[in-house]
Amino acid sequence: MPFPWGLCLVYKNWAGPIRKKILLPLLGSSTRYLMLSAQKRTSDFNSFAVRTNTCGELRSSHLGQEVTLCGWIQYRRQSLFLILRDFHGLIQVVIPQDESAASVKKLLCEAPIESVVQLTGTVISRPPGQENPKMPTGEIEIKVKTAELLNSCKKLPFEIKDFMKKTEALRMKFRYLDLRSSQMQYNLRLRSQMVMKMREYLCNLHGFVDIETPTLFKKTPGGAKEFVVPSREPGKFYSLPQSPQQFKQLLMVGGFDRYFQVARCYRDEGSKPERQPEFTQIDIEMSFVDQAGIQKLVEGLLQYSWPKDKNPLTIPFPSMTYTEALDFYGTDKPDTRFGMKIVDVSDIFRNTKIEFLQDMLKEPQGAIKTVCIPGGAKYLKNKDFETIKEFAVNHFNQEVSPLFLKTSGSRKCPLTKLLKEEEKSALISLLRVQEEDVVLLTAGEHHKACSVLGKLRLECADLLEARGVVLRDPAAFHFLWVVEFPLFLPKEEDPRELESAHHPFTAPHPSDVHLLYTEPEKVRSQHYDLVLNGSEIGGGSIRIHKAEQQQYVLEAVLKEDVKLLSHLLQALDFGAPPHGGIALGLDRLVCLITGSPSIRDVIAFPKTFRGHDLMSNAPDYLSPEDIEPYHIQVKRAEDTGRTDVQSVVCEAQSSQRLILPSLTKTENPFENLALDQTPELLDRRKSSKNPENK
Ligand code: ASP
Repeated sequence: MPFPWGLCLVYKNWAGPIRKKILLPLLGSSTRYLMLSAQKRTSDFNSFAVRTNTCGELRSSHLGQEVTLCGWIQYRRQSLFLILRDFHGLIQVVIPQDESAASVKKLLCEAPIESVVQLTGTVISRPPGQENPKMPTGEIEIKVKTAELLNSCKKLPFEIKDFMKKTEALRMKFRYLDLRSSQMQYNLRLRSQMVMKMREYLCNLHGFVDIETPTLFKKTPGGAKEFVVPSREPGKFYSLPQSPQQFKQLLMVGGFDRYFQVARCYRDEGSKPERQPEFTQIDIEMSFVDQAGIQKLVEGLLQYSWPKDKNPLTIPFPSMTYTEALDFYGTDKPDTRFGMKIVDVSDIFRNTKIEFLQDMLKEPQGAIKTVCIPGGAKYLKNKDFETIKEFAVNHFNQEVSPLFLKTSGSRKCPLTKLLKEEEKSALISLLRVQEEDVVLLTAGEHHKACSVLGKLRLECADLLEARGVVLRDPAAFHFLWVVEFPLFLPKEEDPRELESAHHPFTAPHPSDVHLLYTEPEKVRSQHYDLVLNGSEIGGGSIRIHKAEQQQYVLEAVLKEDVKLLSHLLQALDFGAPPHGGIALGLDRLVCLITGSPSIRDVIAFPKTFRGHDLMSNAPDYLSPEDIEPYHIQVKRAEDTGRTDVQSVVCEAQSSQRLILPSLTKTENPFENLALDQTPELLDRRKSSKNPENK
């Protein structure tokens, strides 16, 4: 069953998924086109429409049939042939040359490229020797009888087939044209099919109920920053939900013990790269379940909905504790497609004479950590090592030194010279150092040392790959559960205070409940994250279902205002069942599956990095009359003396003044830069002010 979904895309001369940086297929390139599967279970793509067939579905088996096709003019060859395109593919149309069909010829020769036409004609064989084996429809062509210009196309802002030459800003400004590209067609159709299979799995096979929850909600304590929506009551605002978390828990109380929703969520986290202010989750909650039950459900869901043109998934997915993830990969979302794990070499240096190493080992939590980069001495240049060192200092305040332990030729490395022979050989044997490998060493507080090496591990992998080393199989999908997170983490802004590692509704690990009341920072949770190829694609937890415990966590540990959640606390007291759930980030998941360079490539109408819609210019100004019912007053940038923001000042009936920053309409000259995130170290440095150094 090669293509049981009916519709699939075929990539000719193309061996694997698209690699980041390597290519985005050219739109309309002859190497790539859409086709219908030969399966019987195909959807009827022609029902209710004036066409009889799609352009991409025609084959020799249709010879002699009279067909009506609708599509866009992809290109024309010497007034003789025209290539018509629809979402299924391309078909060659012979432009009639005889006098009797002069009007059809005129129309087909004069209609601008990308005009939309309707044709009726007969499917005929191409003359021998003129077949095109690169086109699925390459054995046949259409002999036209009638043609109608449905709509002409004006001069385009970019050539649609010239995919590589468009800036992303231009693609977003004319998104409806960009959507015509075969890449966007593939991405969005694959997304739709996956969601359909997910619905089928959850609702039809496992009895889940698809329930919509409100989008106008109220402020929630903790978590991400929310967008606010003014109401007509002075000083009162709605908030757009970060996720349907509270509602799905309330549905459990309401007896809908298996809920799911393709949920739109909103987070005002403008400055984080690769995020969208609005995004979509596959949101799931169920009652009477434990962590293993949710994990199994998700594994089954992904296996069931996994695109058939990708390598099939093997379940169950491997699992790693949060502590292991940080120790060996320096992050809670390890990319397990390649090795280069962090190794603690503190024991090798217990009796060292190197002073800064000695000093660090005396510190509480002080450790010496390393990562061995295979072939690093061969592929990385002195300039790369300078950049690496600078990055470590600027972002982690950590010194990192490269060690050349088995390298031919001389490399500048003062620390290597200071090492005793026995230290060198112990490192070589523990790290299994091979010829031309380089070892990055750092000494520091355990977590910080791991974090910096975790980041450098990824940067070095990118650098090696950019120099032609194959480290990660582009066709591989490495799922990983990360489990046993701490329930709370120290707040970044004030480490003496705690915040939830996931969210405040997460239940403590059953063996650690007693610590909640004495040493909350030591409590492990029943929170689990799902990671794919080093990106977090889902997270969830078993929830607190007793009001008393929930109130304690909110009030005593997190110091939150419980009044904001009184509805939830009350509900838990009315016989709330034990429950748990998860949310999968659909955009990121589809982005990884399709190998797209950005999540914007799997969203029909995405926003820029700064939250702008370049097509419609949202967010936009409102007239004073439009604003009037909301009891808010707008201060323009000129009034505030700020050039980058427009502030909205709310004058509530109470004299309280609330300042809500919103984005200006003025063109941001760096919008393009913000859009075009590149994976190189130096570019990342511009955008990642907050490296993951939890
Ligand atoms: N609501 C959570 C989130 O958006 C997921 C969950 O705990 O189910 O991260």
